[in-house]
Amino acid sequence: MAYTYDDQNIFAKILRGEIPNDTVLETEHSLAFRDINAQAPTHVLVIPKGPYATFDHFAAEASDAEIVDFNRAIGEVCRMTGVAADRGDGYRLIANAGADGVQEVPHLHVHVIGGHMLGRMLQPAR
Ligand code: AMP
Repeated sequence: MAYTYDDQNIFAKILRGEIPNDTVLETEHSLAFRDINAQAPTHVLVIPKGPYATFDHFAAEASDAEIVDFNRAIGEVCRMTGVAADRGDGYRLIANAGADGVQEVPHLHVHVIGGHMLGRMLQPAR
C-alpha cells in the first residue's frame, strides 16, 4: 500500500508559514520548534520539511540527505536545550504513528522531552 500525506495538517501549515511557531532550530531539511502544550521543561518537536506522515514513511521514501539532516537536527536540539546525555541529565525521544500510536498530527515529528525525571516509558493500555 502506498503512503499518503495530508498537506492540510498543522505542521504543513507551519512549514508554509501560515501559522507561527517558536523555532528552536532550522536546517536545510528539518525544523524544530517548541511544543505548544509542553509536557516537561524541555519539549521540542523536530520535523522533516518534506511530506512524510510517519517515521516508517520517512525511512522508506526520504533521501539520504534528509535522513542524515533530520537525525543530526534531533541531536543538535538535545545539545541546544541542555538535555544531551554528555552534559545534561538525558531525555526521551517519542515518534507517535497512526491510531495505535495516538498520533494527532499526521506529519512525522519526534518529541524531544526532558528537563526532569520522566518516569517509566509506557503506561499499560486500559
Ligand atoms: P502527537 O500526538 O505525537 O501527534 O503530538 C502532536 C503534538 O503537537 C502535541 O504534543 C501538541 O501539543 C503539538 N502541537 C499541536 N499544534 C501545535 C502547534 N501549533 N505548535 C506546536 N506544537 C503543536
